[in-house]
Amino acid sequence: MRTGARLALAGAGAAGFAFYHAQIPTSQLYGRTICRAPEAGRRIALTYDDGPNPRHTETLMRVLDRHGARATFFLIGRWAEREPGLAREVQAAGHAVGNHTWSHPTLALCSAARVQEELRRCLEAVEAAGMAFSQVDGAALMRPPWGRRRPGTLRAVRAAGYAPVLWSVTGWDWLKRQTGEKIARRCIGARDGDIILLHDGTHTEPAGDRAASVAATDEILRRLTAEGYRFVTVPELMGQGGPASESR
Ligand SMILES: [Zn+2]
Repeated sequence: MRTGARLALAGAGAAGFAFYHAQIPTSQLYGRTICRAPEAGRRIALTYDDGPNPRHTETLMRVLDRHGARATFFLIGRWAEREPGLAREVQAAGHAVGNHTWSHPTLALCSAARVQEELRRCLEAVEAAGMAFSQVDGAALMRPPWGRRRPGTLRAVRAAGYAPVLWSVTGWDWLKRQTGEKIARRCIGARDGDIILLHDGTHTEPAGDRAASVAATDEILRRLTAEGYRFVTVPELMGQGGPASESR
């Protein structure tokens, strides 16, 4: 009985431990992922998931432009297929783009074959729009939905030629009743080499409301550029000049 209880506890502990590392964006236990680059100096990477969004992505790009910022967009394949012109605009504006799967499943619950199918279908949508994913060290950028992964997920992702990108600062902009100010407050503590997670879309509808995330972006950029921070793409943060890096 006592042994059984101990075993049950040990099991719960191990499950809790595994859950923690499957969920925490900066955990490296399940394999190295890009989540920040402390050696990047006074540079920060803003990242936006779940677009392209016909309702907000263009406005967001205007805000970024106004502050001389470049960002990284993790596109959902089925939204990119609906909005190929908008997806092209994002890349043409000098932002980096990465794969955020075709339909936004929890990859940690998918077989390796399903993981690769999700990545492949998103890639096809982006290629059909005449684009290619941005790269770090020859691997294309991808972000697992919700940051959830396990060792098998990352193996399948890497075998398909992708570098998983997580984040170090969370805007929590998907919670209910957010304002730009609330979201910005969680992000303005970002420092050298941080990667900030925000959203320009939602995975449930193609034109979800992200007005608060756009407003937060303006405030984050206003505050942190005044402190001397530059906002760059993930490849630039990792020391790999993108098209917009050295020419600006
Ligand atoms: Zn997402």
